[in-house]
Amino acid sequence: MIIVYIMIGLFGLVFGSFLNVCISRLPKGESIVLPRSHCPRCNHAIRWYDNFPLLSYLILRGRCRDCHVPISPLYPAVEALTGLVLVLTFYVYGLSPEFIKYSMFGMLMIVLVFTDLLDRTIPHSVTIFGMSLGLLFSFFIPVDDRPLGWIFRHWDIFLDGTTASVAGAVAGALVGGGLFYAVGEVFYRLGGKQKEYLGFGDVMLMLMAGTFFGVPLTLMTILLGSLVGSVLGLAMLAISPRYRGYQWPFGTFLGIAAIYAGLNGNWLLDWYMRWSGISG
Ligand SMILES: [Zn+2]
Repeated sequence: MIIVYIMIGLFGLVFGSFLNVCISRLPKGESIVLPRSHCPRCNHAIRWYDNFPLLSYLILRGRCRDCHVPISPLYPAVEALTGLVLVLTFYVYGLSPEFIKYSMFGMLMIVLVFTDLLDRTIPHSVTIFGMSLGLLFSFFIPVDDRPLGWIFRHWDIFLDGTTASVAGAVAGALVGGGLFYAVGEVFYRLGGKQKEYLGFGDVMLMLMAGTFFGVPLTLMTILLGSLVGSVLGLAMLAISPRYRGYQWPFGTFLGIAAIYAGLNGNWLLDWYMRWSGISG
């Protein structure tokens, strides 16, 4: 079993290396296939033996082999994070279709977490691909159909499994994206149309998460993401006033919350429902 975890972790490092390419190139609209990776300063192509995730960074001690310019520690961090997320996903879902679904979800979210953090960009190529993927998965892997299932049953309408699942995915997307769009509009108008507080990228990110999650986990993602964002934002403001007017990468917080929700959200949801007495 340990071997399987190590294998998955190693796969994660390799995928993480590819995610790094996506993170640095997608916001600029560059191809993620060609050209080969090169040093941003001296333009030297990275040699194949210097392109091992994590390991190469350690061997080269974080510097380009040719011009010795420091390589951002974010590269090995993204690789390690991807390995960790895949290992955790396997720990939660075992060898199952859900493992594939949430591995892909986690990796797409890692890309968005970092493009928003580094460039304040949430590429449509990622979110549209993710949305399509989420919808596709909903045909095979049941998506939480609450509260639609309840409402329909109340009217004596009984949906079959696949229909309920797809309906749950669509409802999740509409609630997630719709809520964000509405909140963004309100702030935009309240702020005298001076500044956009929530970009359309956030709407797209939540549309995507909704197709994977259905309504309950989508709402939880918004709640958790806002909570993490506010706590961190207030803490940073308390530390230094220069963060006043700082443009916060809200998509980064939402992405982190979404990765958590995909792994452990149902546990938190059940706990909350018992605690609040919604379900016995
Ligand atoms: Zn170089």
